[in-house]
Amino acid sequence: MSVSTPLKLYNTLTREREAFAPLDPANVRLYVCGPTVYDFAHIGNARPLIVFDVLYRLLREKYGAGHVKYVRNITDVDDKINARAAERAITIRELTEETNRVFQEDVAALGCLAPDVQPRATEHIAEMVSIIEKLIASGHAYAADAHVLFDVPSMPDYGALSRRPLDDMIAGARVEVAPYKKGEMDFVLWKPSKEDEPGWDSPWGRGRPGWHIECSAMSWKHLGEMFDIHGGGIDLVFPHHENEIAQTRCAFGHDVMANVWMHNGFLQVEGEKMSKSLGNFVTIHELLHSDKFGGKAWKGEVLRLAMLRAHYRQPIDWTVKALEEAEKTLSRWYGLLRAHGVTAKSAADAPLRAAFVEALCDDLNIPRAMAELHAIAAKAEPRDSDSQTARAEAEKLTRAAGLLGLLQDDPAAWAHKAPEIDVDVAEVEKLVVERLAARKARNFAESDRLRDLLAEMGVKLKDGKNKETGDPTTEWEVAG
Ligand SMILES: [Zn+2]
Repeated sequence: MSVSTPLKLYNTLTREREAFAPLDPANVRLYVCGPTVYDFAHIGNARPLIVFDVLYRLLREKYGAGHVKYVRNITDVDDKINARAAERAITIRELTEETNRVFQEDVAALGCLAPDVQPRATEHIAEMVSIIEKLIASGHAYAADAHVLFDVPSMPDYGALSRRPLDDMIAGARVEVAPYKKGEMDFVLWKPSKEDEPGWDSPWGRGRPGWHIECSAMSWKHLGEMFDIHGGGIDLVFPHHENEIAQTRCAFGHDVMANVWMHNGFLQVEGEKMSKSLGNFVTIHELLHSDKFGGKAWKGEVLRLAMLRAHYRQPIDWTVKALEEAEKTLSRWYGLLRAHGVTAKSAADAPLRAAFVEALCDDLNIPRAMAELHAIAAKAEPRDSDSQTARAEAEKLTRAAGLLGLLQDDPAAWAHKAPEIDVDVAEVEKLVVERLAARKARNFAESDRLRDLLAEMGVKLKDGKNKETGDPTTEWEVAG
């Protein structure tokens, strides 16, 4: 079964929600900026991995698994890598291999499908040199003092993605005063390497690439001069993505690099900006393997569900409480699967609920899709209807959750994970969903009745509104 609902995506380039039309529906092409492998990935890095994995799954569902190409690069040459290797007194290769190995384990634990290609920057130096040569030949770059710089004023519409005023861009670029620079916005494509730094021979002497040129080279090699979707965190819009666009467009002479630019929102930790100095730096590896957060190691799927509770473009506040809620939900859902003998495999052909697909196709409205999953789960309770109907609902739940990368685990593996619950979670979720429907229908008497009923069960509600859709939302917790 394929998804026939039209897909709409918010495009940072146009600031509009647009109908998605791939350049070639038989070869839908997606590029996402990957990690710089100098340190373990943190939960801020986990967000784009999970968000774009959901997009990849949806595209595969819609266009066919063999018709989507997802490229996520590995930046294995960078000054941060050189510095860290020196600090730890290991070779650059040892550092990047170790970091990449842990990164691959982390993303697999988060339930992310492997991209079709994970190109490494160090294996694409020839492509980088080739793009730089094209830029010099067309007057968009210049060599000076063993460096090559992109000549920003040579591109009249530079800055179209970030739409920032020039002053802001200059400040954001953290311009160092360098005598070889013609303009203060000009950025490095190539720079010389000292004896002890990694370097490659080039027409401009032994050196190494700037960061931005890496993505232009790897996307060109694996997706072509123009492709469909480019994704990454909102922090990459400027200067990284702006500079990728400048390089690729000026090298190949097209009006666009990628037709759609998608960016996920910021992540905070317990209401604060995450930073090593604040002591709230959370790595995926520690969450999975230590008891540093909330007193226990967490399953990757729990992190994944907790990360999917906000719209991908909204900021998200990462909390231990959200992990606990996510674990409760998953334990409950896997319990339903066990009760009906359903697995991801047995549910593979179950129909997809239209409202669920519509939510996902509406610029990946995952919170709305999650509400649909809760509604399906409520109907999958064995005691609520005859067991065949309830089993069919459990299959629908599993099939739909699979598009979010959830419920793909062996349900038996969750049998011992049930946390101590002093309320009937399925019953509460069912009432919460009913109350949401009542609020949406402006039936306040019914909404109040359900609130009182829930209060009697010891459940506290927190109402809100989805900023994206304006739909009412409700979070609940057991009153302490
Ligand atoms: Zn990039």
